[in-house]
Order: sequence, then C-alpha cells, then structure tokens
Amino acid sequence: MRLVWFRRDLRTIDNTAFIAAINSNEPVVAAFIATPDSWSQHHMAPMQADLIKRRLFELQNDLASLGVPLIYAETSDYASSVDVVCNWVKQYSVTSVHLNKEYEINEVRRDDKAEQALTRLDVVLHRHDDKCQFIPGSVVNKQGHYFKVFTPYKRAYLQKLEQFPVQVQKVTAVNGQKAKVDECDLFSKDCSFRYPTEESQAYQVSTEQILDQLRSFVKEHSDDYQDERDFPAIEGTSRLSPYLAIGALSVRQCMARLLYQQTAPLSEGRQTWLSELIWREFYQHLLYFEPKLSRGESFLPWGVHLRWENCPRRIKAWQQGQTGYPIVDAAMRQLNQTGWMHNRLRMIVASFLVKDLQVDWRVGEDYFMSKLVDGEYAANNGGWQWCASTGCDGQPYFRIFNPTTQGERFDPKGEFVRRWVPELADLPDKQIHQPSKWLSVKGSSYPAPIVDHKVQREITLANYKNAKDFLDAT
Ligand SMILES: Cc1cc2nc3c(=O)[nH]c(=O)nc-3n(C[C@H](O)[C@H](O)[C@H](O)COP(=O)(O)OP(=O)(O)OC[C@H]3O[C@@H](n4cnc5c(N)ncnc54)[C@H](O)[C@@H]3O)c2cc1C
Repeated sequence: MRLVWFRRDLRTIDNTAFIAAINSNEPVVAAFIATPDSWSQHHMAPMQADLIKRRLFELQNDLASLGVPLIYAETSDYASSVDVVCNWVKQYSVTSVHLNKEYEINEVRRDDKAEQALTRLDVVLHRHDDKCQFIPGSVVNKQGHYFKVFTPYKRAYLQKLEQFPVQVQKVTAVNGQKAKVDECDLFSKDCSFRYPTEESQAYQVSTEQILDQLRSFVKEHSDDYQDERDFPAIEGTSRLSPYLAIGALSVRQCMARLLYQQTAPLSEGRQTWLSELIWREFYQHLLYFEPKLSRGESFLPWGVHLRWENCPRRIKAWQQGQTGYPIVDAAMRQLNQTGWMHNRLRMIVASFLVKDLQVDWRVGEDYFMSKLVDGEYAANNGGWQWCASTGCDGQPYFRIFNPTTQGERFDPKGEFVRRWVPELADLPDKQIHQPSKWLSVKGSSYPAPIVDHKVQREITLANYKNAKDFLDAT
C-alpha cells in the first residue's frame, strides 16, 4: 500500500505526489496531520486554519470519488508528525510514502527526519517537486548561479516555458484496489484542530468553485489586468491566492488556463498576470537557494545594521488601522476583517510600517502571517523584504512611498477608503486622503496622522545610509 502525506497541496488534480502514488496501481491511502504547535510558531492565521479544515472535507470527497480514503491525526508539531506517519506505515503495511516538497527550512528538516525514520523501517519516501512550474534550482544563469534580479530570471523562465510547456496532470481512473483503513483514523466531521479558527466562509472550498473562479478571471479580467490591478476599489485581480497558498489550486493550473488556446502573442494583461505567477516562483526559488531567508535574516547583508524604533503604540495603531493615513487604515481594516489585502495596499502598508514608523519588517511579516488567509512564507517574506529594501531585487531604499499621494493615485475618488473607514464616508473626494485639517474643524473620532511623513522619511534615509556605510566600512 502507498501513503500520500498531504500538507499544503490539498487537491487531487495536478498533485504530483498523489498522481505518482495512484500510477503505482497499488492501493493508496491519503493522510493529513494537523500540527497546531508548529502552525502557531509559524504564525498561521486562524482564518487560514479554518480554510484548510473546510477544504479537507472537499478533498475527502474528491479522494473518495477516486477510491482513496483520507486518514487524519492531530499531533503537536512537525517532529511528532513523523512519528504519526511511521505508526501508520506499520499499522497498514505501507511500502512507500509520497509527499510534495516544501522548501522552507523547518519543513525540509521535517522531511529529512521522515526520510531517516522511514528508511529504518525499510520504506521508501518519494519527495516530489510540485509547488512550482519549474523545480527550484532549475532556472539559473549561464554560470549556473541563481538569479538575483527578477527581470533576467523571468526572461530565462519564459524561454524555458517555451521549451517545456505547462502540463496539468489529472487522475481519471478509480484506484482499483481499495485501501482498507480503520474507521477511527478516518477524517470526520468531528475532527477539530486544537488551533483557533476564524470564519473563512467568504472563500470557496469546492474544487469546481475554485476552478470556476480561475476560469472566469482568465476569461473576463486577465486581458485588463495590467490596467486594473493597481486599484483596490476594483475587482481587478484574481483573488486566487488563498487557494494557491493551501494548494487547493496549482500554479500549473493557473498558467495552463491563462495560456489555453493563445496562439497570438499574449495580451499585455495576460503577460502581466503570468509575470505575477513568476514572481511567486522567484520567491520559492530564492528560499530554496537561501535557507537564511527561512531563518528571518535579511537577504542583503547590511540589513542587519538597520536600527528600528519598534514603538508599541505605533505598531498597535498600524495593526488596528488607526494611523491617521486613510489608505493605510483602510487597508489594515480590510486585512483584519477579511484576511486578504490587495497587493498595492500590501506594498503601501509595509512601506509605511518600515519607513514611516521605523518598525522592523519582521514585525509586519509576522502580523501579516497571523491574519492572512493566503499567508505563504516565501511570498510574504519576499514582499516584506522587497518593501524594506533588504530583499533580493527589492525596492531601492531611497524610494519611499508617500502614503497620501499613493492613496490619491490608486484610490482617486476615495471609494476604497470610504468602504473601510466609515468615519470618512462623508468627506469630499478632495479631502479624503488628507482629512486631518477638515476633521479637526468638524470634530471626529478619526485620528490625526501619528507621524509626519516628511520628517520620518529623512530619518529613514539616514538610517539606511548609515547601515550601508557601516557595512562598507567594515
Ligand atoms: C508585504 C507583502 C506581503 C505579501 N504576502 C503574501 C502572502 O503571504 N501570500 C501570497 O500569496 N502573496 C503575498 N504577497 C503577494 C501579493 O500581494 C498577493 O499574492 C496578491 O495580492 C494576491 O491577490 P490575487 O490572488 O488577487 O493576486 P493576482 O494579482 O491575481 O496574482 C495571481 C497570483 O500570483 C501570485 N502573486 C501575485 N503577486 C505576487 C507577488 N508580488 N509575489 C509573489 N506572488 C505573487 C499569487 O499567488 C497570486 O494569487 C505579498 C505582497 C507584499 C507586498
């Protein structure tokens, strides 16, 4: 019998490990292990935990239609999850275990440990590459080194894509020899994670609904993506990130749908969406090459010399959407209430925390993880380090977003701000991004700006310059 250990790959379609097990023509059992202590160490958002739980029921149905049972256990952490797998292996006389790799350091260590333990039991562990279209380590420059700049990486990536077009694998046949498992091991409605959960009903969990969302985005919005993606008041992006993050959808499914029947050169919108999917791969590849990123270190060495104020009062104001900068506050409230935030806003609020409030980017990174329904280590770390200018091909440190002009540019009529900051709903368009003067006359609960952007900008520039000079001098 073969056992497939599911983690953040909660689907049967285009799941490399699962399909390899099915193709063995042996009975297959699928397994999922909740590890609340490890999730908590990784700041997993309660809303993401809820989404995973709901998705597991769908996965169970999808697996059942293919003749595969889903067994389930809860343990404390990654280390003990290996013991659970070994117990199942003995209990069910499993001969091979299949899993899809995760590239973060703790996850790699867990799988190394599993490999050692299973080898001792004379069981083969098959570790498949599944998360990316191209295996991390396979898109490199002529010298065989990894790319440190996105544009040449993307160029090489696109060339490779022409050579190796996207393929989505499907299982069609039912698993002939049904695996027999104990009732008590089966995933059931009573399974509850010992982990806080927060309602995730706004997000789909059925495979068909998720695929419908992908299809309708590609059909109706992808060609306009380039023009609409930066405006948070418009539904211009796919909102597929929660499903990619838990593996209910694969990146290959997204690319295949985007490129389906596209003979002429892709529209600008489609090209840009493809580019975003490639950014996702870029950060996964970086994680594979640079384990220090999993340890919370900055990519650029001088990042360690930056000084942070980390003022608790300011951090709290940022978290609660009470900074007095409307676009920042609207964005943070969207995050707190829905578990999702528009990409342009993620950049604005991250820049604000780091460069206007002089707070260590890792504080923001952890907070995002604790709230995001789509929290994914590589993309989150990459995004935060990009904004903090400590990352690989990050924003130059002297480019500092002005939160007021960013709001005026990307939410010109204040529609988004009005939606999330009702205190400002009655403000005329002209004042919506600079409400303090108007409100001080009217009297309102909305706070005055907690910092002066101009002043903070100068402090930040000096801080970054010092950090760089310090490293140059040593
Ligand atoms: C500070 C910061 C933190 C972020 N944290 C996360 C995170 O934890 N999880 C996450 O999935 N994305 C993260 N992103 C990237 C991006 O903001 C989201 O992927 C995007 O907003 C999701 O919305 P969407 O599905 O509508 O994206 P679309 O615009 O439709 O893009 C399609 C997909 O491409 C990927 N993608 C898009 N932009 C990026 C990007 N810049 N980097 C990496 N992948 C990208 C996502 O998987 C996304 O679902 C972060 C960005 C920043 C600046």
